Amino acid sequence: MDTSKLWDRILSEVELVVSKPVFAAYFSKSKLVSFDNSIACVTVNNPLVKEVIESRYATTIKQLVEKYSNQKISLVFTVGKTEIKIDNPGPLFSISEQSFESELTKSHLNPLYTFENFAVSGSNQIAYAAAKAVAQTPGSAYNPLFLYGGVGVGKTHLMQAIGINLLNKKKGVKVIFCTGEEFTNEIIDAIRSRNTHKFKDKFRNANIFLIDDVQFIAGKNAVQEEFFYTFNAIHRKGSQIVLTSDKPPSEISKLEERLRSRFEGGLLIDIQQPDFELRAAIILIKAKQRGIDLPMNVAQELANYVSDARRLEGFLVRIISESQVKNEPLSVNLVTRVFGRKNNSNNLSTNTTPNTFINAVAKYFGIKVSQLKGDSRAKPYSLPRQVLMYILRTELRLSLNEIGSLLGGRDHTTILHGVGKITSFASNNEKIKQDIFSIKSSIVKN
Ligand code: ADP
Ligand code: MG
Repeated sequence: MDTSKLWDRILSEVELVVSKPVFAAYFSKSKLVSFDNSIACVTVNNPLVKEVIESRYATTIKQLVEKYSNQKISLVFTVGKTEIKIDNPGPLFSISEQSFESELTKSHLNPLYTFENFAVSGSNQIAYAAAKAVAQTPGSAYNPLFLYGGVGVGKTHLMQAIGINLLNKKKGVKVIFCTGEEFTNEIIDAIRSRNTHKFKDKFRNANIFLIDDVQFIAGKNAVQEEFFYTFNAIHRKGSQIVLTSDKPPSEISKLEERLRSRFEGGLLIDIQQPDFELRAAIILIKAKQRGIDLPMNVAQELANYVSDARRLEGFLVRIISESQVKNEPLSVNLVTRVFGRKNNSNNLSTNTTPNTFINAVAKYFGIKVSQLKGDSRAKPYSLPRQVLMYILRTELRLSLNEIGSLLGGRDHTTILHGVGKITSFASNNEKIKQDIFSIKSSIVKN
């Protein structure tokens, strides 16, 4: 039987047992690319899909292939050429989809890392505006553009968005994206194989040079030297350079002085950790990419659990799979059951109860427990109350309803609001951070 017919048959069975969104997200772009010597090779469009299919559906697929082919088989999954879905092809997509796609692959760009898929709020607004400006007038607005910030704040995404946007607009533009580590490996290979000419041609002809996690080259002398020449050659031609790093140039240790001053010669922008609203927005975007319409309250609930954007996606995938396995809709309740109380990774003793925290918070802020639980919305009471909500949520993983009833029968939306507020404070307000830390330490010591 030919592989595509075989796969169609298998998919039509899979379709019967999984929900529509799951099918759309994980199977619609899969293909059986080869089936020789009892080895069936299935490609999917991205590594994440591969991870989910492999962990959740491999057995089912294997059984189906065996059923239709009448033999025992081995099953392997690979990630193939990415297919991009264009919802409303507009003037942006002037280049044919096929060639655009191959341009992306050639440039090592992730087709999902676009400006359209990037959510903006206070923590990344300036970086977003600068990236847009660079995409508008590459080589002239800010050159180089240097974005820095912690893990998962969206540096790589934003940098690639510039590349994708330019590839879209200008036929034949040469975009090079590589990480500091890849650059290092390539230069070492080139030196070893005496092929530095090729290396030079490749990098120096770039119109847009995107170098991610440039801090990696620090301390490596030959690499920094080559990077310096590459940088200058590209910059001199008026081509655009965008760099990202986990720290500003002044704090990257063992970075050559001449590189530091080059990096500081353009625009330096930091991106902060996403606040609560931004995390919820990112989850909604990621869900939509999987063909799932996630209710807002579920996105917010998930946003409570994770502070960095990179882990958000893992949580999302997990909850989607759970809803699939349990055959239940995605709901706040499901999220609480899956993530609540589990992974209680703190060093509190096991007999820490909600009352331990209630008393500790009241004592810390110098108010009475009755005031903490009471109705007054005055700030001396409302702030400690919200801090308490946050701590009960993050430390004891109580559900919103449980916290509500501990706090004098408050509604779960009030608790959600309070927790969200303190979560976003906790990422950028030193005083609150310190308060929470002190309260937690007072309990650990007892
Ligand atoms: P960094 O390079 O700063 O470590 P990434 O760009 O790799 O972070 O982002 C981690 C994940 O979070 C990616 O999947 C990215 O798409 C997503 N992400 C981060 N910030 C945003 C945002 N503002 N909007 C949409 N997705 C985001
Ligand atoms: Mg990155």
